[in-house]
Amino acid sequence: MLKDSFNRVHDYLRISITDKCNFSCTYCMPIKNCHFLPNNKLMTVNEIYTIAKIFVGLGIKKIRLTGGEPLIHPDFIQILEKLHSLKLELALTTNAYYLDKYIHPFKQLRLGSINVSLDTLEAAKFLKITGKNAFEKIYNNIVLLLQHNFHPKINVVLIKDINDNEIMNFINWTKDLPIHVRFIEYMPFEANRWNLNYVVPLNEILNKINEEGYTIVKLNDTLNSTSKSFQIKKFKGTFAIISTVSNPFCDNCNRIRLTADGKLRNCLFAQSETDILTPLRENKNIVPLIEKSIGSKFKLRGGLPDFKDQQIFKKLSKRKMIEIGG
Ligand code: SAM
Ligand code: SF4
Repeated sequence: MLKDSFNRVHDYLRISITDKCNFSCTYCMPIKNCHFLPNNKLMTVNEIYTIAKIFVGLGIKKIRLTGGEPLIHPDFIQILEKLHSLKLELALTTNAYYLDKYIHPFKQLRLGSINVSLDTLEAAKFLKITGKNAFEKIYNNIVLLLQHNFHPKINVVLIKDINDNEIMNFINWTKDLPIHVRFIEYMPFEANRWNLNYVVPLNEILNKINEEGYTIVKLNDTLNSTSKSFQIKKFKGTFAIISTVSNPFCDNCNRIRLTADGKLRNCLFAQSETDILTPLRENKNIVPLIEKSIGSKFKLRGGLPDFKDQQIFKKLSKRKMIEIGG
């Protein structure tokens, strides 16, 4: 078991399989100064598999593939098949652009949880946020998932004056469909022009829904859940809020992140990383490095100060979200 010094067991690994993306969401991949890694720095399919297998030996029970955009990886299915053979829970976070291409393998390989990013229900705004004129395609692919009995989670990064006027549209979307909408508080990363004033906090989201006269029912959350789940009375779908900024959920954190270039991050906000790819390529034992990395995990927010403290910008790591893998 991978335990940190606060007795938190880590059994969930998120692997970024590419640092590249076919979208350029303003909050994730600011176009300026975006350098991508050369292919020889990225983990190969076999290296992803080898590392995943080592982690499974250390007690990892769930792996989520993310990026960048995982579905643009040329060997995506091969990666999925190899990880499937490790008999663990497999999950995916995607912008859903190429989802229709993969729906049958997803069913065959019993992909458990699929998170789809969709920040707006308006086509013109979608283009502004993502740089891609693809709202209809993404919407249709979400419908396709529902038709194939998947219950996708829809990730909505809320940003003040950009899409906070759509909270009720997303809530109403859950009325007749078994979808799970997750409002994510906007997080700071290098060069995404984050400001605390742009964050739409948990209490504001709930107040807005209450003011509209809806009855909110609190649902039970799993022990390691990063979100607080709710449902509007008599609605088919559910919603949740991921309040990384206003109410961090570090107490029960069970997550470890692996970047596309094989660096271990023990928190989204970690200020240091552990390179496990180079030693793996040198045939060294990477288990002690993994254990040391988890052992050094901070109790809260990767050791960052409160988000109200402007010093946070000096301390943020020089990694963009697209490089870390959300
Ligand atoms: N391309 C895939 C996608 O968009 O779902 C996977 C990678 S993306 C980095 C993973 C998640 O991180 C997405 O749900 C995205 O909305 C979220 N994300 C990216 N930047 C963020 C930020 N600054 N604050 C909060 N969430 C962010
Ligand atoms: Fe690409 Fe996902 Fe980042 Fe958008 S959030 S730029 S889709 S990696």
